[in-house]
Amino acid sequence: MSNYHIDTKCIQSGYQPKNGEARVLPIYQSTTFKYDSAEHVGKLFDLEAEGFFYTRLSNPTVDGVERKIADLEGGIGAMCTSSGQAAAMIAVLNICKSGDHMISSGTIYGGTINLFAVTLAKMGIECTFIDSDASIEDIQKEIRDNTKLIFAETIANPSLVVSDIGKLAKVAHSNDIPLIIDNTFATPINCRPIEHGADIVIHSTSKYMDGHAVALGGVIVDSGNFNWDNGKFPGLSTPDESYHGMVYTRDCGRAAFITKARVQLMRDMGMAPSPNNAFLLNLGLETLHLRMERHCYNAQRVAEYLDRHSQVTWVNYPGLKGNKYHDLAMKYMPNGTCGVISFGVKGGREAAMKFMDSLKLAAIVVHVADARTSVLHPASTTHRQLTDKQLVECGITPDMIRMSIGIENADDIIADLEQAFGKLD
Ligand SMILES: *Cc1c(COP(=O)(O)O)cnc(C)c1O
Repeated sequence: MSNYHIDTKCIQSGYQPKNGEARVLPIYQSTTFKYDSAEHVGKLFDLEAEGFFYTRLSNPTVDGVERKIADLEGGIGAMCTSSGQAAAMIAVLNICKSGDHMISSGTIYGGTINLFAVTLAKMGIECTFIDSDASIEDIQKEIRDNTKLIFAETIANPSLVVSDIGKLAKVAHSNDIPLIIDNTFATPINCRPIEHGADIVIHSTSKYMDGHAVALGGVIVDSGNFNWDNGKFPGLSTPDESYHGMVYTRDCGRAAFITKARVQLMRDMGMAPSPNNAFLLNLGLETLHLRMERHCYNAQRVAEYLDRHSQVTWVNYPGLKGNKYHDLAMKYMPNGTCGVISFGVKGGREAAMKFMDSLKLAAIVVHVADARTSVLHPASTTHRQLTDKQLVECGITPDMIRMSIGIENADDIIADLEQAFGKLD
């Protein structure tokens, strides 16, 4: 499918029915698969024959979605996981072991910060959080002999910081380590990080890819471009005793990383997606290109409306001309960024909460990036344990409202905001 436009790939890539087979990717709701000979099953285990034997490792429905996402991102292979958190966990553990060090942008999803700062630290993997705006020289200073990767988000959730992917790839590659990019908010419709030097791309598919808030999921995409056989990654370039001596770089070539992730870590940890969820994800992907266009159009309209509003103290949206990340957004996402906006309401915490309670169309939910417009007041919900001073330190002000703009009519979303502002007088 490599010659088609991305819109066509959203619909056509992945599952390719043969003569007489179902036109639509079927749900293979089966944990296991039947074979005529023990010898054939042995070959499957040895990766000498292609096929399915147990859904924890692979399943035809999941496989169809994996092929589609790999094609959308321009990778050589992909592996779906049960959640975005699982994708981040496996992507890092596939490279790092106890005693290793990694570098991550400090402005990333809160769940990923906890994973890196607390849970991985308990497993002996140390993470240094950096300012992703830092210069190449300043990032280089944080690199140690045991540093194994750099991690960042294309557009950070919720701070909407845009990463200079090319810059991060440069630092990573000059140190013979890979760059992992979480591309959840941009989606491959708006940005394909592999084209800018990322080696591994991950997603929480629970957001725009699914798009309807029906199925939790994650995915890891392998560019196939990184040379793991450079002495820094013995887990990939020396025999895996748990897989009768397989050497991933020798035996799997460009697919070393994604094969190890599946046959070693998915085998052992089992954060596998359900076939039913993979089917729902595939339905979401079929309209991703149309939905992202509308999310971005609506968000731009709402951001410009908020920017002009006398009761709004500040607006953060990379699509706005005055935004700190506007130039980077234009460089990496010329067709649009995402549908998430944050802004401040005059009158602080009290006003923000009253404003939100007055909204009729926009629902209060702890989720972003689905078809329905939603709002969240971080200071009174996800970050309510923090004092006002602590909130400011982690970039969340008491007046901050995070809004995920859906694909309804923009005029209706703006009218809803207008009537809620009216309640504040
Ligand atoms: C939501 C999210 C995650 C976590 O994904 P889950 O599917 O909720 O586990 C990771 N990264 C980003 C950028 C997210 O928005």
